[in-house]
Amino acid sequence: MLIKAENLCKVYGSGANKVTALCGANLEIAEGDFISIMGPSGSGKSTLLHILSGLDFPTEGRLSYDGKDIYALKDRELSAFRRRRIGFIFQQFHLLPVLTARENILMPLLLDRKQADQAYLGELAKLLGISDRLTHLPHELSGGQQQRVAIARALIARPDIIFADEPTGNLDSKSGGEVMRMLAEIRQKMKKTLVVITHDSRIAQMAERRFVIMDGVLSEEGGQ
Ligand code: ADP
Ligand code: MG
Repeated sequence: MLIKAENLCKVYGSGANKVTALCGANLEIAEGDFISIMGPSGSGKSTLLHILSGLDFPTEGRLSYDGKDIYALKDRELSAFRRRRIGFIFQQFHLLPVLTARENILMPLLLDRKQADQAYLGELAKLLGISDRLTHLPHELSGGQQQRVAIARALIARPDIIFADEPTGNLDSKSGGEVMRMLAEIRQKMKKTLVVITHDSRIAQMAERRFVIMDGVLSEEGGQ
């Protein structure tokens, strides 16, 4: 799957409250790419990731997946596209507190009225080291374990691409390192495309293509 972003801009608010969060972002993401995007707080990282993943629309520019303009889709079609093709990992995990780890992981399939693939769930749990934690509630898990559950949830519908917004931002450096190593390993094993936002340069270095964003302006390191 080829993702092409052309001249993406995002302006929040209007008048005196107008904030240009992102301006003129161009980016092509090829199948299997491992991309990191680094930038200080408030530089537009989340804004860019939300637009790339269909979570929020740009105020200017175009985004296509295999030539298809995803913001031309109807809301319902875009939601279905996202559920099936895109995995998203948040800094704050965003697990549902009343559901067990297993139920959280299976939620995207449930929303899509799809059968749970127990064998695949078992495989993911094993790769992420959470096999013995599946019956636990999120508050019974460490931060690192919660994020690994969230990674399994992002992968359960077998999406082509995973977007992660500061996935280690809420973790200490040891469990953050573990989470990133697992994510990178799974990406390689399962041949996924991975786009990670971070302000940790060690994590950015793990990626094959590195971007920097400053005041809403995106540029590729050593690139165009
Ligand atoms: P980052 O993820 O790099 O910290 P964001 O993309 O969240 O940055 O935000 C970029 C800029 O856009 C910031 O100045 C932020 O305050 C502003 N911003 C983000 N979301 C909104 C919103 N919903 N309404 C108004 N301004 C916003
Ligand atoms: Mg952010």
